[in-house]
Amino acid sequence: MHEIDSWPPGGDDALLSKLADRYIGPGNLLDLAGVLLDPAVGKLALVSSFGAESAVLIHLVLAVAPETDVVFVDTGKHFDETYDYVNVLTHSVPIRNLKVAKPDQRLLAVEDSDGDLYKSNPDSCCTIRKTFALQDLLVEYDGWLTGRKRFQSGSRTTLPYFERDGAHLKVNPLILWDPDTLEAYFLRHDLPRHPLVARGYPSIGCQPCTRAVAPGESQRAGRWSGVDKVECGIHLGPDGTFTRTVEKHRRR
Ligand code: SF4
Repeated sequence: MHEIDSWPPGGDDALLSKLADRYIGPGNLLDLAGVLLDPAVGKLALVSSFGAESAVLIHLVLAVAPETDVVFVDTGKHFDETYDYVNVLTHSVPIRNLKVAKPDQRLLAVEDSDGDLYKSNPDSCCTIRKTFALQDLLVEYDGWLTGRKRFQSGSRTTLPYFERDGAHLKVNPLILWDPDTLEAYFLRHDLPRHPLVARGYPSIGCQPCTRAVAPGESQRAGRWSGVDKVECGIHLGPDGTFTRTVEKHRRR
């Protein structure tokens, strides 16, 4: 099992430069098929929240590389509708290899025995239920694909296609996609929608930390609403220095 402390420093490196030179073409468009089929990239996992737009990346990637593992980070706090949607997409796309990353039950028993850590310390809750769970599963992979887009929020406006995420390569194929492009893709491929989208949830995370948004609010305004928090923390910084720094969160 990885100890994040031992991960090599990241940042820009030769692989990122090579991939950018080889697969980012005119108009800053990504040759995703080229990336997925390049042996130098290694084994990638597609990490999905099975949220409002997740069907697009899953369909896009599996159309080229149908055996790609799709990873659902099951925090144990998702909406019932999300668990239903995992089943719907798994059968309709279809997803051949679904992997589920779950939090360490021993850690939960110590740190979140009542299941309400999200109220007092949402950062720690996300660290245990998302970040640790995902990073432990990712030890089997060389990198991962995410569905993040630049339009989603201020913290994502400069996302690159390729990042180093600790020891892993991270690929963000949809950075330039906007709501119209996504909608067109849903329609063209007749992809099923997450049932909460029609009820005012354009961005869907865990049930306790997600609310519907009002007209005019940003897409992610309903995530950790009223809390000084905009990301779950599963995305390490480019130097890989995320921070199992809090000793109490180390596994016993
Ligand atoms: S989104 Fe909320 S419930 Fe889910 S892991 Fe983070 S703090 Fe916990």
